[in-house]
Amino acid sequence: MTKTLFERIIAREIPSQIVYEDDLVFAFKDITPQAPTHVLIVPKKPIARIAEAAATDHQTLGHLLLKAAEVAEKIGLKESGYRLVINNGADGGESVPHLHCHILGGRKMAWPPG
Ligand code: 5GP
Repeated sequence: MTKTLFERIIAREIPSQIVYEDDLVFAFKDITPQAPTHVLIVPKKPIARIAEAAATDHQTLGHLLLKAAEVAEKIGLKESGYRLVINNGADGGESVPHLHCHILGGRKMAWPPG
């Protein structure tokens, strides 16, 4: 099967600025940052999007969120705050069909989101 873009990044076939890696997840800087700090954290398993996740993915998904918070702290966002975003499908603004959580910080986020 064809690898997703993020599988190719995880495999180092496409270079990225790696922020964190373990057996289940991989975090790297977004190539088009939408905030002063913008990191993506993705499961190594190529779940297409949150809507396609299965009950058997619960450990991976829990780990992804816990590690998102750890990474946010590691990159200095814990005190000031940050936003985690998961885009799902066309209206959600998803452009890469490999589940990923955006970690955005370094500026005040607007609400409602655009
Ligand atoms: P989505 O729009 O699917 O929620 O988020 C996909 C994100 O992947 C976008 O923020 C986009 O900038 C980022 N992205 C797309 N291609 C690359 C790439 O080759 N390298 C990195 N580091 N980020 C990418």
